Amino acid sequence: MSTHCQSCGMEFEIEADYGINADGSLNEDYCIYCYQNGKFTSELTLEEMIALCAPMVAAANQNMDVAEASLMLWDFLPNLKRWNGEG
Ligand SMILES: [Zn+2]
Repeated sequence: MSTHCQSCGMEFEIEADYGINADGSLNEDYCIYCYQNGKFTSELTLEEMIALCAPMVAAANQNMDVAEASLMLWDFLPNLKRWNGEG
């Protein structure tokens, strides 16, 4: 069981944050935005995922601009299961 989505890095807080498997059960590795009905909601490259997430991370962190958010994501996301070859 992961504490963060293994695709976008979002932290899980409530059950509704978790993705949904093909059989309707919760997927504890991926969030609801990344994973529904047993598959990823969109096929992105790591580069595209970071480009998508960086503005949201920057918006959520007052002390971070998009460039800094992007650097942080390049540190973090490549270690997640979807991107490190184990997913
Ligand atoms: Zn996610």
